[in-house]
Amino acid sequence: MNSTSSAFTIQRSLSDIDQDFDVIIIGGGITGISVAREAASRGLKTILFERGDFGSGTSAATTKYIHGGIRYLEQYDVAVVRESLRERRILALGAPHLVEQTRFIMPAWRWSKPPTALIGAGVLLYDTLAFDRNLRAPDSLRIPHPRWLSRSKLLAAVPWLDQSGLQGGFAYHDTLNVHPERLLLAYAKAATAAGAVLLNHVRVTGFVSTSSDRLNIEGVTATDVLSGNEITIKGKVVVNAAGPWIDKVLATLGQGTGVGVDRSKGVHILTRPLGGPGRVADAVFARAQSGRHVIVSPWMGKSFIGPTDTPIASDESGVVVDPDDVTLILDTVNSTMAASEPKLTTDDVEMTTVGVRPLIRETTEGDDASQDEGTYSASRAHELYHHAGYGVDNLWSIGGGKWTTGRATAEEMVDELLKNELQGVRSRPFDSRSAAAGGAFAWAEDAEPFITEAAMIMNDHGIALHIGEHIARLYGTEWVRIDAIVQQNPTSAQQLSPGCNDIEAQIIFAVTDEGARTLSDIVDRRLVIGTIGPVSREVLERVALVAGPLLGWDETAIQEAIRREFDRRTVIATHWRTPVGGASQ
Ligand SMILES: Cc1cc2nc3c(=O)[nH]c(=O)nc-3n(C[C@H](O)[C@H](O)[C@H](O)COP(=O)(O)OP(=O)(O)OC[C@H]3O[C@@H](n4cnc5c(N)ncnc54)[C@H](O)[C@@H]3O)c2cc1C
Repeated sequence: MNSTSSAFTIQRSLSDIDQDFDVIIIGGGITGISVAREAASRGLKTILFERGDFGSGTSAATTKYIHGGIRYLEQYDVAVVRESLRERRILALGAPHLVEQTRFIMPAWRWSKPPTALIGAGVLLYDTLAFDRNLRAPDSLRIPHPRWLSRSKLLAAVPWLDQSGLQGGFAYHDTLNVHPERLLLAYAKAATAAGAVLLNHVRVTGFVSTSSDRLNIEGVTATDVLSGNEITIKGKVVVNAAGPWIDKVLATLGQGTGVGVDRSKGVHILTRPLGGPGRVADAVFARAQSGRHVIVSPWMGKSFIGPTDTPIASDESGVVVDPDDVTLILDTVNSTMAASEPKLTTDDVEMTTVGVRPLIRETTEGDDASQDEGTYSASRAHELYHHAGYGVDNLWSIGGGKWTTGRATAEEMVDELLKNELQGVRSRPFDSRSAAAGGAFAWAEDAEPFITEAAMIMNDHGIALHIGEHIARLYGTEWVRIDAIVQQNPTSAQQLSPGCNDIEAQIIFAVTDEGARTLSDIVDRRLVIGTIGPVSREVLERVALVAGPLLGWDETAIQEAIRREFDRRTVIATHWRTPVGGASQ
């Protein structure tokens, strides 16, 4: 059953790891993974620790857009929008198999705030700031200019909209990050191929340091949270990319570092497709009379709706979706729907996602969140903190940012390392602006012909065409490795569930090549089955029976893993349906 490892193979254990690195990275979200890719590709000896799974923090909870963020223009955050639009193009060219151009509709009602003319000015500015959007872009990634849709054209495209006072709508394009989990993994693989060591489920517990009048960071201590094994790693510099938790990591230093983080909870819901199956192809940026907005995205045949943006007082990685979060989204979207349209209820909600936005705070030493001002209008800019100014050497933290700007942040970060702590360390040139993500078929080329060809070859080997397309889209050039597993073991071509195109061979590959160590790693971030609706106990059992032996689990461990994962998912699915202080509905 084992597949032979490739350059992209992510390892799963602390054994056989060198003790000395140029760069140690804390956090395997899009920011940390991008830094790992950038640093390793520039020839730096790089190791990354992620306490959960790669991309399981905030990076797993996005609205799924690689976008400029049109609404940030309302806060005059032109620099962030321009940077993000530049990155939108760069990320799309580097991973054409995992992105799609999506038309967005921004409806304008008579009561809209900002008023229609101002929305129009914003859309035009957005387009102007994206002046280079089609540079080197193949047809599939070309973005047209925005345009005004008359009321009737708008309703033909989005029939569920409230018609009263509706004037029409602006249509503009952004880029859908179809499976953010897989794209993040593609960068992780690029980092691995360049020599980085990436470890998941390993928590950094503290810093190794010497102190005189200054604190000199020399490395980190870390614990494998699944095995309990501990490790100490030395490094010339440490980059703290722990997202919303950078301040918690810094707290282990026991002294001030000048970093403050505001946290905001962001929730999405996955529902039946608004307007009926297959009827609406556009994403809708719907702003209700309450002033709140949601994005309603057609995704995997359903509607993905959100986000909320609610300040939260302190941590927690244990943040959960509450009934109020779901009600807020339902109320907002329902208030933009036609009277004749059946309103969404909690019964229509198939699953939820939640994440904590890391928002930088102009600080303050040591104070924890004071959240009075709210986070909706907080800047999505990123910030590099060099802690030398606070008497701590060889340590940087990265605050804020967006999924879209992870690469740019990483490039800036590694430039700074080479100018400072790593001055004189041998490095090599690497331009991540024109580098493909791991497994991409080609840079700046339409992926469809590659996908079609791959699916036809897989079809000759007994894999149904639509499943072959699904695999080629998810894995890019690595489809050959899934195909090889199926050829060795034809029953692994079986679909895991009728509503999903994932097959058993992907489970094997997730463990042997993609660093998966838990059932959630497999169903939520290697396969897509965990992202498109509830996962049944039967599916978890099938996954565990295939993955368990590869992970060295005996029968007891397999049963325990199934029970724990099923219970965890049940708690998540039930919590938001349970009124505060009440019983489950
Ligand atoms: C609801 C919502 C919607 C969003 N939508 C979009 C969007 O559509 N487009 C976009 O561009 N951006 C979007 N964003 C923003 C984007 O998701 C985040 O900016 C980005 O994912 C942050 O990535 P990160 O790597 O900095 O943080 P994270 O992804 O949170 O990664 C930090 C990691 O550090 C790990 N960690 C913490 N402490 C330790 C430790 N001690 N040891 C080891 N590891 C540790 C955590 O487990 C975590 O995985 C959205 C955010 C939210 C919340």
